[in-house]
Order: sequence, then C-alpha cells, then structure tokens
Amino acid sequence: MCYLDILDNLPRLRLSSSQLKMILWIMEECGARDVPSFNGFRAMQKQIRKTTGVKSEAHKSGLGNLFYVNDIRDLIAKDFANPEVAPYIQKYPEDVAGGPISEIWQVKDGKWHDIPLDELTPSILVGHTRYYVHEIAELSDGQWVIPALWIVCKGKTYADCKLVQRNVSLLYLFPPDLAGLIFNPETCKEYAQRIPNRFRQIDNGDDLFTVWVPVWADDVSGARSKQYQKHLNVYTANANLPGRLLQQEYFVRFVSTSPHAGALEQLTVVVNQVKSTHTKPVLTFDAETERPCSFRLNVPDGPADNPQQAEEASHIGHQGNYFCRRCHVGGTSEEKESPKGYHSFYETGRPRSVEEIRTAVLLQIKTATYGIASHVEALQTSTGTKDKIAQHWIDILIQKARDMHAAAPGRDLDEISDELLIWLGKETDQQYNPLLDLPLFDPSQDTLVEILHTILLGHAKYTWYDLHHNWTEVQQNIFTVRLQATDLDGLRVPPVRAAYMMQYRNGLIGKHFKTLIQTMIFHIYDIVTANQFALVRALGELGPMLWLPVIDDMDEYLINLQILIDNLLDAFASIDPAKILIKLKLHVLLHIVPDVRRRGPGVRFSTEVFECFNAIFRLCSVLSNHQAPSRDIAAKFADLDRVKHILSGGYWLEDSAWVRAGKDVRRILRNTPIIQRHLGWAPPPYWTPGMIKAVAQKKQAKLEALTAAEAMLTGAINPASVVISPTTPWTNGVNIAAVLGDCCTVGSWAIFRVNELAMVGRISKILLPKGSKSAQGLLVVSKFDVGEALHPHYHMPVLLLDTEAQRVILPSSSIQFTFNAQHDCRACECDASGVTRQMQERQESDTVVSSIVHKDETRFIINMHGFHNAGVLRKFLPVALTKPRPLFTDRERRHHDLATGLGVTQKAKRAAILEKAAATREKNKAAKAAANPQASTSAVITAAVGTTLDVSMGESSGAGEGQVQSKRVAQKRPRID
Ligand SMILES: [Zn+2]
Ligand SMILES: [Zn+2]
Repeated sequence: MCYLDILDNLPRLRLSSSQLKMILWIMEECGARDVPSFNGFRAMQKQIRKTTGVKSEAHKSGLGNLFYVNDIRDLIAKDFANPEVAPYIQKYPEDVAGGPISEIWQVKDGKWHDIPLDELTPSILVGHTRYYVHEIAELSDGQWVIPALWIVCKGKTYADCKLVQRNVSLLYLFPPDLAGLIFNPETCKEYAQRIPNRFRQIDNGDDLFTVWVPVWADDVSGARSKQYQKHLNVYTANANLPGRLLQQEYFVRFVSTSPHAGALEQLTVVVNQVKSTHTKPVLTFDAETERPCSFRLNVPDGPADNPQQAEEASHIGHQGNYFCRRCHVGGTSEEKESPKGYHSFYETGRPRSVEEIRTAVLLQIKTATYGIASHVEALQTSTGTKDKIAQHWIDILIQKARDMHAAAPGRDLDEISDELLIWLGKETDQQYNPLLDLPLFDPSQDTLVEILHTILLGHAKYTWYDLHHNWTEVQQNIFTVRLQATDLDGLRVPPVRAAYMMQYRNGLIGKHFKTLIQTMIFHIYDIVTANQFALVRALGELGPMLWLPVIDDMDEYLINLQILIDNLLDAFASIDPAKILIKLKLHVLLHIVPDVRRRGPGVRFSTEVFECFNAIFRLCSVLSNHQAPSRDIAAKFADLDRVKHILSGGYWLEDSAWVRAGKDVRRILRNTPIIQRHLGWAPPPYWTPGMIKAVAQKKQAKLEALTAAEAMLTGAINPASVVISPTTPWTNGVNIAAVLGDCCTVGSWAIFRVNELAMVGRISKILLPKGSKSAQGLLVVSKFDVGEALHPHYHMPVLLLDTEAQRVILPSSSIQFTFNAQHDCRACECDASGVTRQMQERQESDTVVSSIVHKDETRFIINMHGFHNAGVLRKFLPVALTKPRPLFTDRERRHHDLATGLGVTQKAKRAAILEKAAATREKNKAAKAAANPQASTSAVITAAVGTTLDVSMGESSGAGEGQVQSKRVAQKRPRID
C-alpha cells in the first residue's frame, strides 16, 4: 500500500487512474497478496489525508467565484514538523557584522530588522528557563538587562539588550515571581507597560516563531498542448529557509488554482489565513528541538511578473500615464517629453504607499456612488491607482446610482451615495484588494523587481529583438555559426542550439536569454552598430551583478549596480529615446537598487523556481477531468505534500500525540536516490577539492600507462615543486573537482593557487595514477597573464599566453574555481572557414555545417558577462579591471538633449496621427451617409443620448492622451514583450 501511495504521488511522474488500475491488475495477476481494489485504495488515501495531510477547503470569493485553497498554515506547520527541513529554518535575524550577505535575514535594516520587535520571535529557552524580550533578566555575571531582540551572530544566539541600573531599587527579577513585580513608573514607563510580555498569554510557554511566506500568483496554462487553458495559480514557500534550498522544487508549496477566480480573490483567503495567525498562532511540532512550537505568518513580498505585481499593488498597469506601481513618475505626454520630465524617468520617483493607495481606492468607490463614470476614470488616470476588486463594485455602484437618479430625479445626491455605501458594506466585507489590509505589507513597495521577467524577458528580449530584426540572412548565419562555436565551459548553461534559436528568434524563453546575455557580445562585432554594441555590453555587464548569490560589501555593490543600471538605460536611450516612456521594465529596474538594499541579492526574489513548479501543476491539471479542476488539483497537491511529509519522517498530531512513520518508511527517502530525485529532494552536494575522476575501470585496463613525455611532464616547469616519482604509471583523468566545487575538464580555464599566489591557466592535462577510480593527481596547465589594460571593445580583461610557461605542473588540489574565457576572434580575424559534420542520432551525419577556426591560441578574453563564479572572479582581478564606468558623465544634460529631440518628433507624430484619424472619420461618415441617407435622423438621436458619454470621453482624453499615444507607438513595431 505504501509503495502504491508513493507511486501515485511523485510530482514529476504523475500516473493516471487507468495506469494505476493496470498496475493493480498486474499485481493481482502476479500473485501479490492483499492487493487493494482501486476504490479501496482511494478510500485509504482519503483516510490518511484526513489525519496527516494539508487541509483543502472550499471558498467563495466576494465576486461569487468558487475555488479550493490548501491551508497555508498547514503547509508551513509541515515544514517545522519535517526533520529534513526544520534544522534549516532560520528563527532569528542574523548579524553578519559587515560580512557577506546572501539571505534576507542578514540585511541590516532589512525587512526582518525594521518591523516592530514584537513581530519577531519573543522568547528563547535557555536551559529550563524561558526568557522574553521587554522583560528583565539577570546575566551570569549578575548584571540586569532587558532583552529587545534575539539575534544570531556567527552561529550563536545573542540578546540585543539594554542594561538596567540596579539602583532602581523596586525592580524585581523576571520571570521567577510574576505577582511580585513592581516597577518604577517614572524611569521605565515604556517597559512597565510591556511587562509581563503579552506573549506569555499566547504561546503556552513554547517557542513562538515568525515565518515569512512570499505569495506568488500568475496565470498558467493547465494544458500540455499549445491551446491556452487559463488557470490562476497561487504558490508560496517558506522564506525562513536559505535561498539555495528555496531554489529546489521540493520547497515550493501549492496553495490554490482556479480557472475562474482572479489572483486577488484567491489571495483574499490567503491573507485571512495569514492574519488569523497574528491573534491565534499555529501550533506545530519542531522536529529540530523535538518540542511543540507555534508560529505566526507574515508576507514579505509578492514575487510575480510585472502585470501581476501591478494588480497586487492596485495599479492601472504599464499603459497608464503614471505607469510605475512603485513611484509617481509620469504625467501627460507633454510633461513626459519636457527635459525635466524626461530625466525623471531615469530616477526613482516619490514612492507610493499602501495608505495612499487605500485612500485613493476608497475615494473612487465613493465617487462611483454619484453615478458618473468619467469622474472615477479621471481619478484613476491621474493617480495610476485602479483596483481590480473595487472596479467590480464601482461598475455596479455607478449603474445603481444612475438607476436611482432616474427613479427619483429630485433626490439629494449625497443621500443616495450614503445609501449605496451602506448597501456595499452589507454586500461584501472586502471591497478592494485584500493585500492593502495586510499588516507589515505594502504592495506598492513589496512587489520587488523580479529579474526573470524584467531582465531576461524584458531587457534581454528587447536587446535581442533590436539586434536581429534587421539582420540580413548572411548576418543571421554569421551569428548562428559563431554562437554555436561558443566555448561554454565555466558558464553552467545548457548546450546551445544556435540554429534553433535563430529560427525561432521571436519565441525564445528565459534560458535562451540567459545564455545570450552571457555570450552574445563576442559574436556581433561586425554585424551591429556602435550603439547596439554598447547596449549589448551594458546588458552583459549588468547580468552577472544581478545574479550574484552573495554580496560582500553592500554599499559598494549598490554604487556599482546603480552605474550599471544607468548605463543600460542610457544605452537603450541612444537607440530609441522614447523607449523609457513606453516600456515600464526599463524604468522599474531602477527600483531594484532599494530592493536589494532591503532584501539582499536580487536572485533571492527571482520567480524562476515557481515558474519551474508550473510543470508539476500542468501534469496534475492534465490528469484532472476538469469537472472540478480547483478541487481536484488542490487535493492532488495536498496528497503530494502528504507523501513527501511522511517519507521525510515528518510528524503529525494523532490523538493529541505527535507521531511519525516507522523506520522502514523513513528509510525509503534516505536510501533511494530515485525517490529523492522524483520528490525533488537533493542531498547537499559533496566533493573533495582536487579529486580527479578516472575513466571507467574496464576501459582503463585496456589503456597503456602514459610515458612521461605523453603525460607532458618532461621539461615542464614545476613551481610548486611537486614530487614526481618516475615509476608512477599515469593515466588521463576525466574531470577534477575545484575547491569551490566546479567540475573542470581538459580545456577548462581556472584560477590556481601555487605557493600562496594566484595563477590563471588553462588545463592541458589531468593525470592520476593508473588503476585508481578517483584520486588526487597532477595537472599540466598553460599559464596565462592578465593584461594590464581592458580590451578596448569588450571592456574585459585580456589573457595572454605566457610563452615561457606553456607547461606548468601543479598538484590537483591547487585548482580553486573555473571561469569562462573566449578567444579574441575579432583581433585574430577568425572566420567560419571550418567544416564539421553535423551530429545526428549521436553519430556523424553527411550534413556539413560551417564552423569557426581559431587562428591562434595565445590571446583570450575573460568573459566578465558570465554569471557563474562572477563574485569570486571579480575578487581575484585587480579593482581597476572590474570597476564599472559610467557611459555618460553628465547624464542629466544628455537626457535634456534627448528630450528636446524627442519632443519635436513626438509632437509631429501626434499631429500626424490626429490628422489621419480625422480624415478617416470624415471618410467613414461620408461613406455611411452615401450608403444609408435615411438613417441621418436616428444618428442625431443616438448622439443626443450619448452626450454624457461623449463628455466623459472628452474629459478623460486630456489626461489619457499619452496613453493613446503610447499604444499607437507600440502598435507600429511588432510586439515583443
Ligand atoms: Zn518608479
Ligand atoms: Zn577565434
């Protein structure tokens, strides 16, 4: 039964009911004992789900849609009760004392630090005594303190305390005697009110933690075919876990899906569940301490794509005059094209705030009760605030108000308004976006800039389109051949299929752009303009900085990041100055700088793992019969989580005791790699630096040992004075593990450490003693020197072969990490004169393709656009070679110049469009009159009835002009976002 249940609940290997029935039948035929019937099996699953699973409940939204939600409180409770997960849950903020930052809880003044202290873990157990913040405690040296915050530093938990003067003689030590507490009211008013800590009433004497749960929402197709089957999904994750774990699917939690209910409707339920934990923390079992504990939930941010984030921030979207959800940048076309207005798009504007949005939405609702749509629209265009849920009620209110005005023309308008507001209050208790009422969450600022959608599917996509859309076929072919010839070693990207990418150049996805950002610049030198080259360079320089998982020095990093972002925006402006006014993704990128300051590395709030998780959702959706997709899929995910929980040795509450599965069940996950793989659970990677892997033993036995000459050892330089026994028989190794875990092969570029000095080189030979499977051995390396000046075109360090040291012997343990380098084909004038046979079906076919022939092997360029190891590589190189340089020094001046040119052309464009529209109107009118001369009377009547409407159009068109304009401009070019 247990195995069947596992088989039925592997996320990436979903079985249909028919397949399961077949398996049951085969088991029966093979004579297995106690084979359950299909229905019996399902009944058993249902039973287990009740006791050990996640609650999946039906909900009806305020707009009347039905959907099922898996309880987010249960999902997080399972994390604590799961011994595979619990030890990794971060319970207190961390003080890294100026050291590197990789996680959100390490950021000084970040989200974990700047919330009211009461919202963080209030107590800690030392020995058998529980200490609370805001209460007085005695240190071992007899001093009295009031702890304000529990904080981790270098793996130990400390209290951030205020010292208490003992001369306040009436103070009593807490906690021993609750009743005896008397406080000097004059000196300690603030503390007196807080003692005893109010959480003593709430936490039952157990640990009370705060868990951060980002909520991701997006529309996803539930079909595997190309036909789009829209579902709106909500997922979450436990953000108290380290970022490296959160990149695994194992840690993504499905919350809900619905083909009907929108994101905000589903989020209403989630928000209510989160809020409920503030008054009633969730009880669970901490598998790390093996004690019961409880926790409260908070939402740190809303990761999603930009349109979804706009919806969450009650924002009108990128088509509006004020198109940024984060700030107030924008205005009418004239304002935007004025020098000052134009420059303002290159800076973050006055930030929006949740209070401001809420007030704006409430004003719109109130305005709607007067029945004039244009007034509401005017409010929306002038603020950029438009709320999806409120809009539903606004439409109803306007209609109702109009009906009421018509029914009683003389009635006081304010009276009708009041009546309608009362009606609305009775109709719904959530008149607008629920996220606006979520404590500690500001959707305008906490919808962080997301790098997958903004950089890869934004800037990289725009750049790529700008390059290829006027390439000739010859240019396309040149690029394809060069891209295919890229040396990908040290980049950790999947193999390139250049011909495919060129063929489907308008349909590339994130992973393609990730490769292009890192390699594109080396292939375009003679097929693009200088401005385009500068754009590709600016994009390539920014990429690795945003994907850095660890930030060593936050202040310095942010200064550099700002320069790189400015460069990218300026490079776009050199090609099309109007782009920043139209494309939100350009402006919104500026907001990532404060986001990183508050949250740590940008890659930590990327949505890549959620997007990957969509594949599992799709597998579940395909197998549902779509009679009740929301219920079926939610139940399925509850089952997936349940099996994962049980196999991981997780606890559940049964008859008021915390129990878990038996040893045999727990052993399945630990000992079965195939189950680990299917559950997406990856044990921590393990490697020994310098360990060389040999070819398979059978193959090796057939090979002769290498002679010293073949091993390239004779005559080589030996700076590390490695002892080489002349009798050791050497054999070629397949790969070698570097100190940082990279797997390097012959041809890999790497940094080595020899006699405490760093050295750059390329591996020519990996040698290990013959007969061993894996062992420490020797490397023969060609030494390269880093040029003093940057490459004039690529602005990257140059590598020049040290002709004196073409063969250097190093111990294998000296290899530190790998990086990517490219041949300087531009300087060496390499061309596509080579011919290779195409590989098909793993064999060489007769089809030949041209390939690049590198003219010499002495001049290479360190690929500074590579993401992998970007941080350590920059630390190794001299600062002068890595410091970002601004593209324009006087940017404001530059923007003013651009704006002046832009204003003229845009004005002319607008005039032409208006003229054309007027001409078309006239033409249509004439054609209509000619076709139907009798209809003229009815046309007049229609016009009279439509007066209000016409006026409304007229009023809003002033403010909405830019909106129309941007649409027009956007339509001229093919859509690429
Ligand atoms: Zn902004
Ligand atoms: Zn070359």
